[in-house]
Amino acid sequence: MKICVFWHRRDIRLHDNAGLAAALASGLPVVPLFIYDQDILDYLPSKADARLTYIFDEVERLAQATEAAGGTFLARYGKPIEVLETLMQKFEIAAVHANEDYEPYATERDTAVGQMLRKHGVNFLLYKDHVIFAKDEITTKSGTVPKVFGAYHKSYLAKLTDDLLLPFGSLEAFKAENLHQIPTAGAGLRPTLASMGFERLEQFVPTADLPAEDVVRNYHNTRNMPALQNGTARISVQLRFGTLSVRQVMRQAKALNPKLLAESIWRDFFMVLLWHYPNTATEAYDPKMRHIPYRNNEDEFRAWCEGRTGYPLVDAGMRELNATGYLPNRVRMTVAGFLVKHLFIDWRWGEQYFADKLLDYEQANNVGNWQWMAGTGAISAPWFRVYSPESQLAQVDPELKYVKRWVPEVGSSAYPVPIVEHRFARERAVEAIRAARTAAS
Ligand SMILES: Cc1cc2nc3c(=O)[nH]c(=O)nc-3n(C[C@H](O)[C@H](O)[C@H](O)COP(=O)(O)OP(=O)(O)OC[C@H]3O[C@@H](n4cnc5c(N)ncnc54)[C@H](O)[C@@H]3O)c2cc1C
Repeated sequence: MKICVFWHRRDIRLHDNAGLAAALASGLPVVPLFIYDQDILDYLPSKADARLTYIFDEVERLAQATEAAGGTFLARYGKPIEVLETLMQKFEIAAVHANEDYEPYATERDTAVGQMLRKHGVNFLLYKDHVIFAKDEITTKSGTVPKVFGAYHKSYLAKLTDDLLLPFGSLEAFKAENLHQIPTAGAGLRPTLASMGFERLEQFVPTADLPAEDVVRNYHNTRNMPALQNGTARISVQLRFGTLSVRQVMRQAKALNPKLLAESIWRDFFMVLLWHYPNTATEAYDPKMRHIPYRNNEDEFRAWCEGRTGYPLVDAGMRELNATGYLPNRVRMTVAGFLVKHLFIDWRWGEQYFADKLLDYEQANNVGNWQWMAGTGAISAPWFRVYSPESQLAQVDPELKYVKRWVPEVGSSAYPVPIVEHRFARERAVEAIRAARTAAS
């Protein structure tokens, strides 16, 4: 019997899933699949990774829901091409459906998978799902990618009609009869964390529900107050792995808070930028910023990683990141700015450290924001802007509520003196960047 496969990747959910809804509507019986991709797992920093634990639990939930609805859920560990080739030998697969992914690794993987499948006469169909506008859907009048958020945001809002935010399919549609039960013995056997060589590590992630309405309504007042637990929406992990649908999030934000809507639009924008300029995952977008003589002092980098710089907001942030895998946006900006300007360390070191630690690590957002802070990106803060961590602290945590939660020894003799003086560091960075830019032009 001919079947089609729906390959879940960064969309671990049944409801409002563009590709899954299309597969179910295709007329062929559908078998959902998740591949624990060895090409990604081999590069995780540790054998106990909270992100993998989260993915694993969510995939198991999906598998159980699929089985309860009468289907078979396939989960496999390996390299995607090899897994798909093996499945093609066992089952008569007519098509593989999946949602688009815009990261450089993912686009290369999908090109190779598509070539392999088509060689065997199997269709590979991709759908836009985890952004509202992708690729070239929003351009300037001359047809280029906007380089200013204001212009992008304006065009985005002008195009953002309510029908674009309607859900694709639902649990009810998913329970339709075209889910397929594979009779082959063992087809539904799934890998475990242990069988993949990993241990369980749980870190807190809010449930995959929309944020409470009062959080969303107050967002513009509370987003820069890191002492509050609910000052922001806390949905980045769910958006990263697709346990929440971006359409649901945007519908709520559009109805209740334009500021939150604007922040969610940044996410689409950074994905568009990385898709257009995949080289910026590892190099500055601005050629004049590619040869900056960063100091890259390893002891100072360690002090930053461990929250021992003597700047309370920086240290509190890094300790929160290390302990929880999360950091509020405003503090991410402070610690990132401090690394690239005050310590004058290459933004890629910080980007990698965040990639290892953040539960919501998302290459496009991480690279985009790091390049923004370093002044090297397609869209960036001016390269000569150096925020004072002390003034940041006075603005966002004047009573030291947040700082004291993570750095209880602040103000005592046990707390280190500042690793570098603010004005000296600012001038050192600005002069070095200015000279490098002049030499490059
Ligand atoms: C140096 C640095 C690195 C970052 N790395 C990541 C990362 O790896 N993954 C990640 O998802 N976000 C990253 N961000 C963006 C932002 O800090 C987080 O998305 C946000 O803190 C997540 O918490 P929240 O869901 O409560 O956000 P909220 O403020 O409630 O915003 C809601 C959603 O909007 C999107 N969003 C908000 N701010 C941004 C932004 N500046 N850029 C892009 N999208 C945004 C996110 O999807 C977020 O979940 C980074 C920011 C900085 C300054």
